[in-house]
Amino acid sequence: MKVAVVKETAPGERRVALVPELIGRLQGAGIEVLVESGAGDGAWFADSAYADAGASVVSRAELLADADLILTVGKPDSQLTDGLHQGQAILGMLNPLADPGLAATLADRGVTAISLDGLPRTLSRAQSMDALSSQANVAGYKAVLVAAEAFGRFFPMLTTAAGTARPAKVLILGTGVAGLQAIGTARRLGAVVSAYDVRPQTKTEVQSLGGTFIELKSVADAAGQGGYARALTDEERQAQQAELAGHIARHDVIITTAQVPGRKPPLLVTDHALKEMTAGAVIVDMGAGPLGGNVAGSVPGETVVTGNGVTIIGAGNLAAAVPGASSAFLARNITTLLLHLVKDGALAIDPADEIQAGVVITHDGAVVQAATAALLADHSPSAANPSAANPSAANPGGDQPGGATS
Ligand code: NAD
Repeated sequence: MKVAVVKETAPGERRVALVPELIGRLQGAGIEVLVESGAGDGAWFADSAYADAGASVVSRAELLADADLILTVGKPDSQLTDGLHQGQAILGMLNPLADPGLAATLADRGVTAISLDGLPRTLSRAQSMDALSSQANVAGYKAVLVAAEAFGRFFPMLTTAAGTARPAKVLILGTGVAGLQAIGTARRLGAVVSAYDVRPQTKTEVQSLGGTFIELKSVADAAGQGGYARALTDEERQAQQAELAGHIARHDVIITTAQVPGRKPPLLVTDHALKEMTAGAVIVDMGAGPLGGNVAGSVPGETVVTGNGVTIIGAGNLAAAVPGASSAFLARNITTLLLHLVKDGALAIDPADEIQAGVVITHDGAVVQAATAALLADHSPSAANPSAANPSAANPGGDQPGGATS
């Protein structure tokens, strides 16, 4: 079986799906590895490092002609999609709930699509394959560095002959994987850290990292299924925003990470809250994306400064900005999943396997993953189902994250 690694082409994407040190593990399972020339350049893995580890460095055309399975970080670009042929497979973070049309195209082409973001994350044997967690970890770390860079003061308390600087007060909103890593990183830089989440069970995790957990009187427990949050009602959302505004105004740096599977990210920092903040404050909105963000006025991939001097950074793909670490983690997730899927040197697709039921999106010319198939059915012209406008209907708070969350 030949497995090939492509060079990513999305703007700002510096990660690579496989790193040289894992090639030996794949070879041990009877897999031959091809790498597109330059695939690792963005993460400082040279073609020669892949070749030394036993891979063949090839062109895109050779790779498309020869590979049985193609490894990618994100969705394939149109040139790659058009070049795939019947019987080939592709594995990466394909985000089918955000782009079910890609799944339909791959099924039509007879391509088997495998997506890491469909993994059942609470299954303990799947933890080492969990790319959403590994990349959120890297992004949470980087968010703090991005905030510290933009903040015009110190994070730690400093006592010098020229005076004493008080430590920065940092607030983390949303304490899932990225938020917890952000708490730890901000603490290591010496900041005083508070955090809030609608899932009160995260309180002990926040405290174990040295943060203070903020409890709101206005919002009850909003834990949903599979460890995720549920969407708040309009009344809950307004009460939460109003109560949070007072806490936000008291902080120098805010990092927001809140997501609800399959839905628009919740708005936590409103225009009103922004107006109450002091000049020089910095917000990093990790929820920022095509569907919106956690902060009013944030723009994905851009920095905006409000009239009252608050810097809002719409965090784009922060994991890609730490490409060596994120590629190493991602490659381990991919390798572990791949070795789970390969038997006797070939892909052994088995929909009865709990992991495969989540990650195998298309096979044998059909969309086979339940959530993506349901989403496509809802969107089909003949569907009378009113949930067509609501992707979360295909994934009603289940274990699998929605497309808008990644
Ligand atoms: P996520 O990216 O979906 O959301 C980030 C955080 O935002 C969550 O903690 C969520 O509760 C919070 N949030 C949502 N709406 C909010 C609101 N209105 N106000 C404040 N906070 C809000 O989450 P994630 O990082 O992907 O993790 C989700 C869960 O999955 C966590 O419980 C995590 O521990 C769990 N998880 C479990 C495993 C495992 O068991 N192996 C692996 C990975 C993640």
